[in-house]
Amino acid sequence: MHAVEIANLTKRYGATVALDDVSFSIGSGEVRALIGENGAGKSTIVKILSGLVAPDSGSFSIFGRAIATASPKTSHKLGVQTAFQEMTLVPHLTVAENLLIPYQPIRFGVVSNRLTCQKAEEALAALGLSFIDPQSLTTDLDLATRQKIEIAKAISRDPKLLLLDEPTSALSADDVDWLHEIVERLSAKGVTVAFVSHRMEEVRRFCSSMTLLRNGRHVGTFAATDVSDEE
Ligand code: ADP
Ligand code: ADP
Repeated sequence: MHAVEIANLTKRYGATVALDDVSFSIGSGEVRALIGENGAGKSTIVKILSGLVAPDSGSFSIFGRAIATASPKTSHKLGVQTAFQEMTLVPHLTVAENLLIPYQPIRFGVVSNRLTCQKAEEALAALGLSFIDPQSLTTDLDLATRQKIEIAKAISRDPKLLLLDEPTSALSADDVDWLHEIVERLSAKGVTVAFVSHRMEEVRRFCSSMTLLRNGRHVGTFAATDVSDEE
């Protein structure tokens, strides 16, 4: 079964055509790169699969389920989790609160702080991020740490399809090694990963196949090894 099937998707923002009749699929368990220059439409694909943006026309399905009305809730139910490029951490909440927002409606003062911290500690430890204090405010952390928390938030919700939009933009080389290990581990468990990047060395390292977009069009889907350095 395909994790993702996209058929003839078109999306415009006013006069800008973000996606122009795009069709491709991602096999279940693949680690797929979405590549292309700025403005190619990569983030729009991520947002459509996440349920945040509705296409103007065309259709798509996730794990065989046709999506009639895109919504984050529908995507979550089908196992889609996303680490967004813009980062969705709420600045004046702690790391623990940010990590646990998806699990329970946090009504401040009702959810025990100890419980929240313990769950967050477990989630961070599972990803080798024990050095992050769950009680710190995300605003007090550097960009690389915030990006790791954005990634951890998506992974700790147990995705079947993990969407990573430029997940390494703020990461150091060591951090990229960290992410690589995690993606390999998830992939071995059968999780499907779509990885937006413009760094070809990363694409070759992380992904088995890649989908190239240009000006909102699908140029082609290739084995990652087929691609030369100029791309
Ligand atoms: P990429 O992720 O490949 O850089 P995007 O999907 O973000 O590309 O954008 C595709 C095109 O759509 C770009 O021209 C971008 O400026 C435009 N675009 C994206 N989001 C919006 C928006 N919310 N409003 C207007 N234009 C947008
Ligand atoms: P990306 O590399 O993903 O395209 P951008 O920096 O272009 O990132 O866009 C950041 C955010 O701004 C995204 O949410 C995108 O949808 C939105 N955006 C991009 N282009 C425009 C635009 N022309 N008008 C309004 N919003 C836009």
